[in-house]
Amino acid sequence: MNFEFNEKQKMIIKNARDLAENYLLPGVIERDETSTFPMDGYKKLGQLGFIGLPYSSEYGGSDAGYLEYVLAVEEIAKVDASLAIAYSVATSLYGGPIADYGTEEQKKKYLPPVLSGDSLGAFNLTEPNAGSDAAGVITRAEKKGDHYLLNGLKCFSTNGPLADYFFVVASTDSEQKTRGLSGFIVEKSFPGVTIGKVDNKMGIRSAQVSEVIFNDVMVPEENLILEEGKGFFLAMKALDGGRMGVAAQALGIAEGAYELARKYLMEREQFGKPLYRNQYLSFKMAELNIKIEQAKLLLYKAACDKDAGRSYTTSAAKAKYACTNLAMEVTTEAVQMHGGNGYMREYHVERMMRDAKITQIYEGTNEIQKLIVSGGLFR
Ligand SMILES: Cc1cc2nc3c(=O)[nH]c(=O)nc-3n(C[C@H](O)[C@H](O)[C@H](O)COP(=O)(O)OP(=O)(O)OC[C@H]3O[C@@H](n4cnc5c(N)ncnc54)[C@H](O)[C@@H]3O)c2cc1C
Repeated sequence: MNFEFNEKQKMIIKNARDLAENYLLPGVIERDETSTFPMDGYKKLGQLGFIGLPYSSEYGGSDAGYLEYVLAVEEIAKVDASLAIAYSVATSLYGGPIADYGTEEQKKKYLPPVLSGDSLGAFNLTEPNAGSDAAGVITRAEKKGDHYLLNGLKCFSTNGPLADYFFVVASTDSEQKTRGLSGFIVEKSFPGVTIGKVDNKMGIRSAQVSEVIFNDVMVPEENLILEEGKGFFLAMKALDGGRMGVAAQALGIAEGAYELARKYLMEREQFGKPLYRNQYLSFKMAELNIKIEQAKLLLYKAACDKDAGRSYTTSAAKAKYACTNLAMEVTTEAVQMHGGNGYMREYHVERMMRDAKITQIYEGTNEIQKLIVSGGLFR
């Protein structure tokens, strides 16, 4: 692992930071209040080549790697955690199964529209009775000649209301539990696909999350990824990559809140001196600074594992756990350091604290991350 970024990586960080600070920052409070998705910001991510960073240019990608991708997500999340997760879901959770396991035709047809930023992609695994335990999936895909008939309801679909394309996990053999699950690419334009309840959330309020309902949807057999029974494998692989996106989102939230707190402690005076001159507060900042560095190294290590072709399930789980707990800690401290102002919308840190919470929950809760890490300890 190289501890110095190369010129390309520095350029990606600079371009993502420019987009975040100059384009996304001005409307971020209003978008949070009105739950409005920054579609123009998403399109710009595509135009800059960010959504396709880890994928081949043959399919509209940018021929870079996962490290470059997490660096971009991190910069966007310092300012707009909602756009950061929409971006991560499109790249990792929708794009991952197709790029890594799709046929040539599937890659050519279904990657470019999303990687270019023209369309959004979504990932539909969760159902009302299948959250941490995917064995509860009851959405059914029944083979009928040259197509599958898809019926069921998926919940908590990030990008759901806006997406043109969905990666859907459905059961093709209910006797087999997770080994009977299969992964499909479904277009919103297929008759029978509708959007159900749109969720009203605590945080990431400008990201759009909803139910997606499939009612006798005819899915062509060529939209099955790999073969029947591989859906659980595909979803778990996608989530290994997605967790690095969530970790990058959380790390960005933590760094954004840390920087706002640092500036506030220098500007705000009480008892005749700037707040940072209280050792309690400067030591607290030192602790957070060290923890940010620790979490960052875990995340970059996980991304480097994936880029080098090493196993990354455990390193991604560790990075997700560390970065997301850190985001909650730093944002809570940042609100406290801002005093009463921290509780007010215009100071950003209250939004960051609300945004941080979900990172501990989605793409496998942090309890599930401990299951993954502990599972490897006693072999
Ligand atoms: C805003 C948002 C966006 C989302 N986006 C998507 C998406 O795009 N696509 C998608 O498919 N899903 C998505 N999800 C779903 C998300 O991944 C699940 O909510 C999450 O995995 C937890 O599942 P659950 O809500 O059913 O909780 P449950 O599985 O019911 O868990 C409840 C609690 O019990 C704990 N728990 C469960 N099992 C164990 C165990 N064995 N040991 C210890 N503790 C355990 C959990 O950690 C949690 O604290 C999203 C959710 C939200 C809220």
